[in-house]
Amino acid sequence: TDIRELLLSRIRDVADYPEPGVMFKDITPLLADPAAFTALTDALAEIAERTGATKVVGLEARGFILGAPVAVRAGLGFIPVRKAGKLPGATLGQAYDLEYGSAEIEVHAEDLTADDRVLVVDDVLATGGTAEASVQLIRRAGAEVAGLAVLMELGFLNGRARLEPALNGAPLEAL
Ligand code: IMP
Repeated sequence: TDIRELLLSRIRDVADYPEPGVMFKDITPLLADPAAFTALTDALAEIAERTGATKVVGLEARGFILGAPVAVRAGLGFIPVRKAGKLPGATLGQAYDLEYGSAEIEVHAEDLTADDRVLVVDDVLATGGTAEASVQLIRRAGAEVAGLAVLMELGFLNGRARLEPALNGAPLEAL
């Protein structure tokens, strides 16, 4: 489709970043292009509306850049899920495994309620570890997961298969 071509044309491949052997998908050219950024925001907001989301969660850091305008466009609140130690209030945390070692993400638990249906937004789905932890965190905070929406899915890393049990029927949409 047209939007797919437009978005793809604004993503830059950077070889050997952040380490040798990795082909990094850089979205900064897309952010710098108002037509592409607006098209992306509109497409993600349409998913928020279609899935009946009441809140948008953005994953640090590029999920903040994409998720915040989606929340505004869809008329929803925005909630940041951050790396551990960055949020000042009472947090709920979720640890997850990386290739080497582990990481932890946190959310302000009081920002989510049992009435909320949450759309999680991020730029790139790679192994799915970050998204899986965020879905678990949202459920533990007492809210429902409306879905996960990303700009791009790196299919060869099989994140979708890893996420399937955690998503429990909620849609994973990759533009
Ligand atoms: P995962 O947990 O392995 O799925 O990694 C996903 C997280 O790493 C997301 O928050 C992405 O922003 C980031 N990430 C992984 N690969 C890339 C990439 O090629 N470009 C931009 N972000 C990436």
